Amino acid sequence: MTTQSAGLLTDGFHLVVDALKANQVRTMYGIVGIPITDLARTAQAAGIRYIGFRHETSAGYAAAAAGFLTARPGVCLTTSGPGFLNGLAALANATTNCFPMIQISGSSQRSIVDLQRGDYQEIDQLNAARPLAKAAYRINRVEDIGLGVARAIRTAITGRPGGVYLDIPGDVLGQALQVAGAADTIWPLVDPAPRQLPAATAVDRALEVLSQAQRPLIVLGKGAAYAQADNVIREFVETTGIPFLPMSMAKGLLPDSHPQSAGAARSLAIKRADIVLLVGARLNWLLGHGESPQWSAEAKFIQVDIAASEFDSNRPIVAPLAGDIGSVMSALLDGLAQRPMVTPRAWTTELAERKARNDAKMRQRLAENPHPMRFYNALGAIRAVLQSNPDVYVVNEGANALDLTRNVIDMQLPRHRLDTGTWGVMGIGMGYAIAAAVETGRPVVAIEGDSAFGFSGMEIETICRYRLPVTVVILNNGGVYRGDEVPTCGSDPAPTVLNGRARHELIAAAFGGKGYHVTTPVELASVLTEALASNGPAIIDCELDPASGVESGHLANLNPISAASAPQIAVSADG
Ligand code: ADP
Repeated sequence: MTTQSAGLLTDGFHLVVDALKANQVRTMYGIVGIPITDLARTAQAAGIRYIGFRHETSAGYAAAAAGFLTARPGVCLTTSGPGFLNGLAALANATTNCFPMIQISGSSQRSIVDLQRGDYQEIDQLNAARPLAKAAYRINRVEDIGLGVARAIRTAITGRPGGVYLDIPGDVLGQALQVAGAADTIWPLVDPAPRQLPAATAVDRALEVLSQAQRPLIVLGKGAAYAQADNVIREFVETTGIPFLPMSMAKGLLPDSHPQSAGAARSLAIKRADIVLLVGARLNWLLGHGESPQWSAEAKFIQVDIAASEFDSNRPIVAPLAGDIGSVMSALLDGLAQRPMVTPRAWTTELAERKARNDAKMRQRLAENPHPMRFYNALGAIRAVLQSNPDVYVVNEGANALDLTRNVIDMQLPRHRLDTGTWGVMGIGMGYAIAAAVETGRPVVAIEGDSAFGFSGMEIETICRYRLPVTVVILNNGGVYRGDEVPTCGSDPAPTVLNGRARHELIAAAFGGKGYHVTTPVELASVLTEALASNGPAIIDCELDPASGVESGHLANLNPISAASAPQIAVSADG
């Protein structure tokens, strides 16, 4: 137990650190300030790595990414009031994405806050956090710190993972406790994320349905990546021969180059599949809610999920499989011994033909060499470099920068791609990149739209301060979506336009990182190779044609257009 001194008293700061250490928390992401500065110092002195950020939202995103990568809760430390509020966006994002994370926040004095007497940074933090988190707890007594931390960790990773808010008022952190009794208030959790086995009848039902398929499809989601059940998933896919489709953060669970990957025939696979096995993937907007016209109206869904309440949330689930993915996939695999399955050849041939056609189109696009460069040409260069560096972690955000990177950059290893996730949130870039570098020690390439980068760009200083092996490639077309919009009136830039000739690489130079500016794919491939070899921080500003990119990327259908500015269409009374 870390005590303040050899004396008889310990305090809240030391107890929080002791409780986290007892539960294998090795890293904390945050920003110091009143009342938690000493908590960061105490943690660092006790051997917990503390990574100090420039904005709490980025620190929170880092904690969430750490949770996804390690299947242990990532911890984010925030100050009271505004610091807490900045962290909330990340906490809500973690909850939405089912990533385990704990936001520990200092808060103002309860007796003043509850009577709204106007304390320093006063806000009712517990109630503000509650609707955005899987759970929110407050520790009101120093002797409850071990209990509060245990509860937060258990809640974050048991069942469906999510974000947990843990409120610790400043006066509780400062409270003293006798060392003699303090050790008993802290304990390591036994089996914090217990396995949850599926019922045998549910397994039989699922295999029975699957065995009737003429055009089966397995959809792997980021829950499958999180579950770290890579071998059993792969064995099930390969034993059944069923084509699989990875959601973006499940790319690499099986390599994108795997012959059973239906990635390059995604639309066809979705449209034609008759029985679909969802593994750690929700039938939300990212999968068109499972509805026609994207899916066949006759498609039947089997779903593996640890949260049984997920079933039937969009379409009927004819064979629900409640349990953890490792246990469920093992049970399905065992069941195959009694019920061997063969995927009809007509289906795999249909998909293979479409894949070959789409692959040829893609190769043609990547080979073009227009000047100025466009998204595909830059990505072609990045793809070539990453193919020979498969253990690089890829972080990706933007609109076109996201859509096109997802399609062009193949992944070969599980949990090596982190992106905007369920919300499609902009701003995760630098936080996720920092966490990937810190948690894995491996190099990271963040492929960013210039607009997306702006949300967390100041974290370049953090990346440089800790000398992290992060290369940020900015696909710079000078705007949100694209950079060539002409304002309809006045002299201000159009709403989608950013500084078209911004030299983002100079930001790296400001903090001691390497900066590169490139205008051709050949230059890009060369400096990316150099940046990776340096194993340190770098920014590559990639000058793209401002006219490349489409508004709202692949989500144009979700973007309402102002009726007043849309081209006028005359509609007659009879339509
Ligand atoms: P994607 O966006 O990649 O389709 P989602 O985030 O929509 O993935 O779905 C992830 C799903 O995985 C969630 O419904 C979550 O409950 C589930 N999940 C997370 N971890 C596990 C696990 N260990 N076992 C089973 N299901 C899990």
